[in-house]
Amino acid sequence: MAGNDAGHGAIVRNRDLIDVWIEAPRGNRKQVVYEKILSLIDITDEPSKHLKSNIMKCSQLFGLKMANKWQKVGQSRNRLLQNQTRFVYRINNDSEENTSSDEEQEPPCRSVGRPRVPFEEASKKTKRRRVAELTTDRSANELQFAVNVVSGSNHSEVSPQIFSFSTAEALALMVDLDISVTKYLLLRSVINEVDLQELVQKTAESILEIINFEERDCRIKVICKWGFDGSSRHSQYKQKFSDLENTDEFLFLVAMTPLRLIDMETNKVLWKNESPSSTLYCRPIKFLFKKENADLVRNTEEEIITKIENLIPIEIKTKEGHSYIIEVDMMLTMLDGSVGNVLSETNSTMKCIICGATPKDMITLAGINRPPNVDNYRFGLSTLHCWIRFFECLLHIGYRLPIKSWQIRGPENKAIVEANKKRIQAEFRANLSLIVDKPKPGYGSSNDGNTARIFFHNPQTSSDITGVDRELIEKFAIILGVLASGCAIDMEKFASLEEARNLYIHLYKWYNMPNTVHKVLVHGCEIIDAFCLPIGELSEDALEARYKEVRKHRLSDTRKCARTDTNKDLMRVLLLTSDPFITSKRKVSSKKYKKCNEAVQNYLKRQENDDLGIDLGTITNDTAPSKKSYSD
Ligand SMILES: [Zn+2]
Repeated sequence: MAGNDAGHGAIVRNRDLIDVWIEAPRGNRKQVVYEKILSLIDITDEPSKHLKSNIMKCSQLFGLKMANKWQKVGQSRNRLLQNQTRFVYRINNDSEENTSSDEEQEPPCRSVGRPRVPFEEASKKTKRRRVAELTTDRSANELQFAVNVVSGSNHSEVSPQIFSFSTAEALALMVDLDISVTKYLLLRSVINEVDLQELVQKTAESILEIINFEERDCRIKVICKWGFDGSSRHSQYKQKFSDLENTDEFLFLVAMTPLRLIDMETNKVLWKNESPSSTLYCRPIKFLFKKENADLVRNTEEEIITKIENLIPIEIKTKEGHSYIIEVDMMLTMLDGSVGNVLSETNSTMKCIICGATPKDMITLAGINRPPNVDNYRFGLSTLHCWIRFFECLLHIGYRLPIKSWQIRGPENKAIVEANKKRIQAEFRANLSLIVDKPKPGYGSSNDGNTARIFFHNPQTSSDITGVDRELIEKFAIILGVLASGCAIDMEKFASLEEARNLYIHLYKWYNMPNTVHKVLVHGCEIIDAFCLPIGELSEDALEARYKEVRKHRLSDTRKCARTDTNKDLMRVLLLTSDPFITSKRKVSSKKYKKCNEAVQNYLKRQENDDLGIDLGTITNDTAPSKKSYSD
């Protein structure tokens, strides 16, 4: 990226590596070349992880190229040395990305003749001769693409890129492997991701374009939330994968959403994301066609956190000559309970990730007072899933009310509960038009955010149907409304909501408290306190809702001729639809904003919210979207 001193790097030439490659046993070549490069570059410390991965990339690149060449020259070392192109690898010791200066094409070692003139200064004829080898068997489109690849980092659009080859490296790879654009793209067809540094920079620039901001030198902080989640049931196209583990039935999306821009000197909020729960600003970092599993979750967290740590402050120069230094603060809160469970290394999905309480502990007083692991506050509250979890908790209590027991033992009890469940489902359908707890074909159940919201907005009807205490439903509704409001919460008053916990334990001690309910009722206040922003802004809804759009865009806005094209188009449209500047120009259909009901407003800090420009009268207190089709 810009401003990186190219002088930090070490240069390794092809000829340094050819012999080791030839002599190494076949299966071991990549490793041998890797070690050779490591010995050639002059470092005294233990190589950083980043450096290691850079070297591994070079070693891979070299191996690919050699395998091809070796075949062509009939496995003759002499012929190979005569034919070999001069190619150098620049290995950066920095923690930053490789530089993309033109220096990768090191001046060839010409022993005779005039020194080579730089391309820009050469005559037209020389220029034509020099590009001849590039132009002979390539179409204008291919070359245009190559130009885009080379100059990509300066484009207004974030260019999708896969391995983190620098742009010049990518071109060098294309030219050197003697492959077409199609083949080059095939190499990268499995993963689609954008460079995080570039994404953050474009996002910040785009926001700065929207706001009216007095021009002066200043330091700005961008606060973002990020996260990831898997989804299933995507269309499967008749396209090949290079890795058989992948399937386009499953999509795993990593995304970030900018929340605030803050002037670090005056602490003034320059820009605020007014729809933190919508997909409007939800920017894709990466997507994979893989099924979500614990390893994938752990690796993704590690990978992105490393990238976040390596982000360098962005400097933007304005036309008037002022400069903005932009720092980034990213919070991993767009995730659901199961991801939090994996990342906190909690061995059971039933256990609380904060205090390790089991469902049995959660309904006793001793269980409530367990020491918390404050590290895990960082995962937030996943407010969307709170709606669904609280709703399902009360619903299941309703089913079991006739037998008053967590476990349903014996055929007689089973029949009672089953009949009660059928009655409750039928009454919800008839009275509130809700389809409750019905499996959706293939995945999840019909319990989504909307179902839960309607349940809590009609406490009397819900109580009549399920038999669950009306007061408890109302208390839960207030808690959920307060959490989702996206406003600063008056913690002193909110703490009194532990009444809800006591009421639950008093009424339904026989029903083990679900994990999420416990997390909110017991640790809610501390978790909310741990964040500088209102908890409702940190919700994971944006990511969940993005999947619906991914399905739509993938179907209608992408080419289907090759997987690479489909993926590239999908990444582009996702970037485009989340660009803050473009979003600000869009006529987004205004949602029906409901007034916060008074009970909810009581728990919000009026003064602080006024400072932030939030009008409590217009803000919605229910951000749970209908998009969610939740499955465990
Ligand atoms: Zn706990």
